[in-house]
Amino acid sequence: MTDARLTIGVLALQGDVREHLAALTSLGATALPVRRPAELAVVQGIVIPGGESTTISRLLDAFDLREPLRARLADGLPAFGSCAGMITLATRILDGRDDQVPLGAIDITVRRNAFGRQVDSFETDLRMAGFAQAGLDDRPFKAVFIRAPWVETVGVGVEVLANVEDGRPVAVRQGLVLATSFHPEITGDDRVHRLFLSMVRGVDGRVASGSATGFTEVPRGADSAGRTATT
Ligand code: GLN
Repeated sequence: MTDARLTIGVLALQGDVREHLAALTSLGATALPVRRPAELAVVQGIVIPGGESTTISRLLDAFDLREPLRARLADGLPAFGSCAGMITLATRILDGRDDQVPLGAIDITVRRNAFGRQVDSFETDLRMAGFAQAGLDDRPFKAVFIRAPWVETVGVGVEVLANVEDGRPVAVRQGLVLATSFHPEITGDDRVHRLFLSMVRGVDGRVASGSATGFTEVPRGADSAGRTATT
């Protein structure tokens, strides 16, 4: 693995921070809990965990992280949000709280707690587009949903990577921002984290737009770095 040179932050205000840190560490990245602007400044990618998006929104302000995070995202910092993290990265929130402000890093409208109270937690096997392109096994992914949002609308340039059976998008990507309604950090299947690391490395065949993030862009078709994604 060559991920040791990547420093990936996990926004550590609330939610399943430890699980994301563990998943990233197990893939060889340096995983850093981020609670302060100085910590945010050194990361090459940021993960926003599952948890409670209203609380995360409030704590972003309380910890003076909102503006630094918004600025780094606007500069092209790669980001991955799961569940509450997806809501936090979105552009528009339905059924949010009035004082809840999303970061607008990916052009999607999400509906909070969209699957309803009766079936608020469930597992399902999903086909994920994007795995094969990143050199990953594309067998179905066991996705765990916990009071999850779904994606109600996507803007131009947003790619839908997975849908639940009724067609609702639950995994999306725009440029270097990835978001899932479900929680890959708690299942032990590390392919979504591998996909994110490959996005940070810029080796999955797309142009990495994060010139300000300090990572080295690897040309399309690059050899050894690309192959590490399958190990
Ligand atoms: N329902 C939560 C929210 O609105 C998200 C739940 C989760 O992250 N598991 O933030």
